Amino acid sequence: MDETLNRISERSVATPTEGTPSHFIRNIVIEDLQQNKNASRVHTRFPPEPNGYLHIGHAKSICLNFGLAGEFGGLCNLRFDDTNPSKEDVEYVESIKEDVRWLGFDWGDREYFASDYFAQLYQFAIQLIKAGKAYVCDLNADQIREYRGTLTEPGKNSPYRERSVEENLDLFERMKVGEFPDGARTLRAKIDMASPNLNMRDPVMYRILHATHHRTGDEWCVYPTYDFAHGQSDSIEGITHSICTLEFEDHRPLYDWFLEQLNIHHPQQIEFARLNLTFTALSKRKLLQLVQQGHVGGWDDPRMPTLAGFRRRGYTPEAIRTFCERIGVAKRNSTVDIAMLEHCLREDLNKRAPRVMAVLRPLKVVIDNYPEGQIEELDAVNNPEDPSMGTRKVSFSREIYIEQDDFREEPPKGFFRLSPGHEVRLRYAYIVKCTGVVKDSQTGEIKEIHCTYDPETKSGSSQSSRKVKATIHWLSAAHAVSAEVRLYDQLFIKEDPDDAPQGLDWTANLNSHSLERLTDCRVEPFLTNAKAGERYQFERLGYFCVDSVDSSPGYMVFNRAVTLRDTWAKVERSGRRR
Ligand code: ATP
Ligand code: MG
Repeated sequence: MDETLNRISERSVATPTEGTPSHFIRNIVIEDLQQNKNASRVHTRFPPEPNGYLHIGHAKSICLNFGLAGEFGGLCNLRFDDTNPSKEDVEYVESIKEDVRWLGFDWGDREYFASDYFAQLYQFAIQLIKAGKAYVCDLNADQIREYRGTLTEPGKNSPYRERSVEENLDLFERMKVGEFPDGARTLRAKIDMASPNLNMRDPVMYRILHATHHRTGDEWCVYPTYDFAHGQSDSIEGITHSICTLEFEDHRPLYDWFLEQLNIHHPQQIEFARLNLTFTALSKRKLLQLVQQGHVGGWDDPRMPTLAGFRRRGYTPEAIRTFCERIGVAKRNSTVDIAMLEHCLREDLNKRAPRVMAVLRPLKVVIDNYPEGQIEELDAVNNPEDPSMGTRKVSFSREIYIEQDDFREEPPKGFFRLSPGHEVRLRYAYIVKCTGVVKDSQTGEIKEIHCTYDPETKSGSSQSSRKVKATIHWLSAAHAVSAEVRLYDQLFIKEDPDDAPQGLDWTANLNSHSLERLTDCRVEPFLTNAKAGERYQFERLGYFCVDSVDSSPGYMVFNRAVTLRDTWAKVERSGRRR
């Protein structure tokens, strides 16, 4: 386990119970079951607002909600909290469903929308008006803010607070049928304008919005606020444990108040710390801005921390689930090192990804003493971690490509790869010795290098015991096929993207070198048939995934998902991330 893992597990993983790493929410569920609370039911939900694509923070919530339901024989609903028609879209609904499924979770037929409950929520509002617990207010948004007071000063009662039940019922009905323009009136809960909790100072329950909703069309022109819809939707669905992030802790008294006044099923709200990741922005508002301002190619840009972005980049659902499990669930906000996520991916792909050879920046090598026209089919191991994955043939010939980085005309101290007069082993093939360098007479640029090979050193043969200090990868020039490779670095240059220089906003921290496109790469010929989304280890270079958008059989594009820790060659650790 590396340092990052140790640090994180100390910070946020609670005492393990019966072999499963437990956490405080799991412990609450276990206790509730022991006390036969909710008739021993466990029913959770994942409640996204369909106003953007899901990100890795949402994955934490998905794994937690579906995970608990799964572990304790319960159910987990997928519910879209679609109370804000101006920001929502079916594109987001569809992407959310695809992403939850991809992560490996199934909500069965329990796909719900807060908008399914608009009629019921309207009735709840009427119930509160009749009980003298809600009133129609004519203050505009600015005035409401002004009357609300501050953390240190109590608010003032609205002049419309004492309207009669009849007048409130009449006005609310007229709000609903569209008599008033946007913002003219609101329905507010009548609680306490002096409450130390600002959420309890007569919060707005309904606002007028003449907007077309992606599901209910123009049926409604009053929409419940998130605060009025969320808790009641949980109640309607019979949710037992309503798990949400810490910023809703201060809203809990309000949600409790609504449920008590309405006298309906009361889910237990439990708050946990949201996931923050180094070098990563996790807020849909910011991610939307990145997309809209063209800083990235879209929600599924492989640099985005969205599930769609991670998928396109080459992440596996297993790696993301393992990550969510390892970071644990805590009550206190913290930031997880992105290296931990990368570690989970490497660990998973190391077991599963077939190894292949690819050359990202080709340098031609001519093996002068290798017979012209001769081709040997050499055995290459598909995955040393998993012998069941077998072997494949790679073609060897007189002209090959190696990585430009693997040759130095004047090698620095400690450079053990190819240089004039020195030897290196070609993976699965022979030991070669560099005998000459051909340069462009004008520019001095190295055009190709010349080598001789030692026929006695064929890999796997009985005479091949001679050792050299390094092994490098290569491809037969005549057999290799061209491909594009995209290398990625963090999208932000700062661990905390919000830590912007004085006077600038967070976008000043965008990394202008986050994408490097290499369009003259070579890969093993069978990869022309690789399917979108397939993942491979390019030996010594990292794990790569066939791009699902720009790749086609005639033009292969590979995304580097993550770099590799080299295990089989003595390659200097250059510290380069890309
Ligand atoms: P954002 O702040 O990114 O816009 P949100 O909280 O508004 O996200 P929702 O669609 O409301 O997004 O989120 C659905 C669920 O996912 C909520 O229960 C929310 O608490 C949870 N969630 C959102 N972001 C995170 C995060 N970073 N870590 C853990 N859970 C999160
Ligand atoms: Mg939200």
